[in-house]
Amino acid sequence: ATAPSVMTMNGHFAGVGDAPTKEQYEHGIQVIDEEKAFNPHLNTYLQLTKVAQSGFNYHLISVFGSQSTGKSTLLNHLFGTEFGVMSETERRQTTKGIWMSKNKREGAQVPESQKMADNILVMDVEGTDGRERGEDQDFERKSALFALATSEVLIVNIWEHQVGLYQGANMGLLKTVFEVNLQLFLKDKQSNPRSLLFFVIRDHLGTTPLANLRNTLIADLTNIWSTLSKPAGLEKSRIEDYFDFGFAALPHKILQPEKFVTEVEKLGTRFRAGYRTSKQNGLADHEFDGGVFLPEYHRRIPADGFSVYAEGVWDQIVNNKDLDLPTQQELLAQFRCDEISREVLEAFDVAIAPLEEKQADGIRMGKPTVLADLGVSGKTARVKSIKAFETEASRYHKGVYARKRVELEGKIDTRLKALYQGQLSAAHKSGVAKFSDAVSAAVKAGQKKGASYEFAEIVDREKAVALKQFEAEAKSLAIEGVPWSNFKQQYNLYEKDLDEVSATLRKEEMRRLATRVERWVRSRLGDSVGLEFNKLGSGRGGSGAPETGEKPASEKDLWDRIWNLFIATVKEAETRFIERAKSFDADQDEIEVGLWRLRRKSWGVLKAKIDEEVMEGNILLKLRENFEDKFRYDEAGVPRIWRPTDDIEGMYTKAKDSTLTLIPLLSRFRLSETYAPPDLPEWIGNAPASVDSKDEEDLTPIGGVDEEEGKSLEEEMTILSEAKRQDLVVRFKKTADGVYVEAKRSAIGGVAQ
Ligand code: GDP
Ligand code: MG
Repeated sequence: ATAPSVMTMNGHFAGVGDAPTKEQYEHGIQVIDEEKAFNPHLNTYLQLTKVAQSGFNYHLISVFGSQSTGKSTLLNHLFGTEFGVMSETERRQTTKGIWMSKNKREGAQVPESQKMADNILVMDVEGTDGRERGEDQDFERKSALFALATSEVLIVNIWEHQVGLYQGANMGLLKTVFEVNLQLFLKDKQSNPRSLLFFVIRDHLGTTPLANLRNTLIADLTNIWSTLSKPAGLEKSRIEDYFDFGFAALPHKILQPEKFVTEVEKLGTRFRAGYRTSKQNGLADHEFDGGVFLPEYHRRIPADGFSVYAEGVWDQIVNNKDLDLPTQQELLAQFRCDEISREVLEAFDVAIAPLEEKQADGIRMGKPTVLADLGVSGKTARVKSIKAFETEASRYHKGVYARKRVELEGKIDTRLKALYQGQLSAAHKSGVAKFSDAVSAAVKAGQKKGASYEFAEIVDREKAVALKQFEAEAKSLAIEGVPWSNFKQQYNLYEKDLDEVSATLRKEEMRRLATRVERWVRSRLGDSVGLEFNKLGSGRGGSGAPETGEKPASEKDLWDRIWNLFIATVKEAETRFIERAKSFDADQDEIEVGLWRLRRKSWGVLKAKIDEEVMEGNILLKLRENFEDKFRYDEAGVPRIWRPTDDIEGMYTKAKDSTLTLIPLLSRFRLSETYAPPDLPEWIGNAPASVDSKDEEDLTPIGGVDEEEGKSLEEEMTILSEAKRQDLVVRFKKTADGVYVEAKRSAIGGVAQ
C-alpha cells in the first residue's frame, strides 16, 4: 500500500483496513489504543516478525511503573526497541495504551552464555499515575489484568527514592496487580501460573546496597499482601505462591551515562536463552536471581494463537466480564484447532480431489476405474494431514485438541471411506467380469482341445485368482487401527458374487452338458430305433410264420424293444450326466433337474425319430417290403417263381393281411405284455421342487405328463392318427395290389414263354 497508512507515534492508526507493512512497525505495534480498542493486525505483526511460527518458543515481558520513570527508555536500551520516549524538554505523556515490540537485539554478537532468548516480545504499558487520565484507575486495572494474563515477567520500574514509600503510587499499582492476580487465577487453580516481578530500581545512587533495597521491597510487598482481602479458600495463601521476585539496579542515565549503558548491557544478559533454577543457584524460591525466563512462567499460549487469545482476554476485560483464563484457553483452542483443521483439510483436498474426480469420471462413463496405488496416496495424505494438525494443534488445550483431532480424522476418513468404497466397488465389478471371462475362456479352450476339462477346477482356480486380487486391493487400502478400513464385509460380498457368477456359469455348463448328452441320445436312438424299424422290412424276421397269421416276434414286440432300448439308452445317458455334473460340483438339486430335463428331452427325441420312421413314404416302403417278403419268398427264404397253378391269390391275401396287422400295431405305442402304453409319467417322474421357469422354457409338453396341456397319455402314445391309418391302408393295398398283379402276370408270362 502506498497510502500513508502509518501508525503514528501518538498511537493513532491511519488506514486500519490496509495491510500493514514491516516498515510501519518500526516502533512496534499498538496492541491496545487509548480508546481501549484491540488492534486487529496483531497477528500480522507476529507473522512479519516471525514470532507466530515459534510455537511456545517466545516470551512476553510487560513493563509497569509510574509515568516518566524512563520505562520506554529502559526497554529501548535493553531490547533495541523504538518505543516513543518523552523528550527532555516537553514533559508530556508519550506512551498511550499498550504497545508491543519484538526484541531487536536478538541477533546481537555476544558470547553464547549471554545470548538473549528467542522471540522476546515486550509490552510497554501506559504509565499508571493517571495524571493525564485523571483518576482513571480503570485502565490501570485493566492493563494490569491483561499483562498478568499474558506475560511471564512483569518489570516494575521505580526510582530508588520511591523504595520504602509505602504510600507511593507504585505500591498502589502493586496492590492492584496482586488483587487482579488473585481474581485471575482463582479459577485456574490447577495450572496456577507463576509470574516474575522484576524490580528495576532506577537512579540507584549506590549508597544503599541492592540487597537492602530488596529487603525493604519484599517487606513492603508482604505487607501489602497481608492487607488484601482474599477470596474464600485463599485466606492463607502467601505472595510467594504466585510470584517470584527479581531485582536489579541501574545508575542515573543522565549523570552516569556510560555506567548506565554497561549496567543495562549486563541486565540484558539475564533475558538469556537458558535459565537456571533458583535451587541451582542455591537461592530461596522467591529470590530467583538467574535468567528470568522460567518455564513455569510461560502462559503456554502457542504463538500462532496469541493474537486471538489476547483479543479474547482483552474483550472480557474491557466488558468487565469475569476473566476466566481456562475458558479463554479452551475458546482459543477451539478457534485455532478449527483454523488449523481447515488449512490441513485444504491440503488434503488438493491431494484427494483429483482422485475423486477420476473415480467420478469412471462412474459417469459407466467404466468404474480402479485407481493405481490409491492405498498409498490415501494413506500418505491422511498421515500428512493428521501429522500437520498434530504439530500445530497439540500445543493447545489438550481436551479440545483431542476432540478436534477426532473431528478432523472423521472428516478425512469420510472422504477416504467414500473414495475407498468406490475403489472397491470398481475392483468388485472388474474382478467379477474378469472372473467370468476367464472361466468362459478356459472352458472354450478346453472344448477346443476336445479333451475333457474340469469345470470345477477352472472355477476354483479363477476364483482364487480373483479373490487374491481383490484382497490385495483391500489390504492396500486398510488403515491400521481404523475399523471401517478392514473391508471384510466388501470381501465377503465379493466372494458371494463370485459364487453367484460361478453358479450361473455352472448352470450354463450344465446346459452344455445336457446338450451333449441329448445329442448322444439322439444319435444312439437314431441308430437303434432305425434298426428296429428296418426289421419290419423283413416279413420273415424271427420265428414268425406268415402261414399261421402269427406275427413274427420282431413285429409283435416292436414297441417293447424300442421302449427297452430307449430306457436303457437314457439310463446310460443319465449315468454319464451324473458323473460329469458331479465333477463340476453341481448340487443334487441341479442334477435332479438336469436328469428330469434329459428324460423329457430324450422322450422328445424318440418321438421325433418314430415320427420320422412312420412318415408316409418311409412306412409305406417298409410295409411294402414286409409284404413282398411274405409274398415273394417261401418259408425257407427262397424266392418264389410263380406258376399259373400257384394259389397266388391265397398267398397274396395271407401276406397282405399279415402286413396289414402291422398298421394298428404301429399306430399305438403299446407294450405287448400289458397291451397298454408304457408308464411314461412314472418314468419321467415329477418335476423336482427346484425347477424354475428358465429350466422349463424350452421343454415340449408331454401328454399324460403335463396334464394341464389337456393331452392324454393315450394321445401322446398315438403314433398314427385314424385318418393316417386309413390312408396308409388304402395306399398299402394299392401297392400290394400292384405286386400281386405283377406276380400274376409273371406267372402267366412264364407259362406263355
Ligand atoms: P516513561 O514514561 O516511563 O516511558 O519514560 P520515558 O522513557 O519516556 O522517559 C521519561 C523521561 O525520563 C525522559 O525525559 C528521559 O530522558 C528521562 N530518563 C530516561 N531514563 C532516565 C534515567 O535513568 N534517569 C533519569 N533521571 N531520567 C531518565
Ligand atoms: Mg513510555
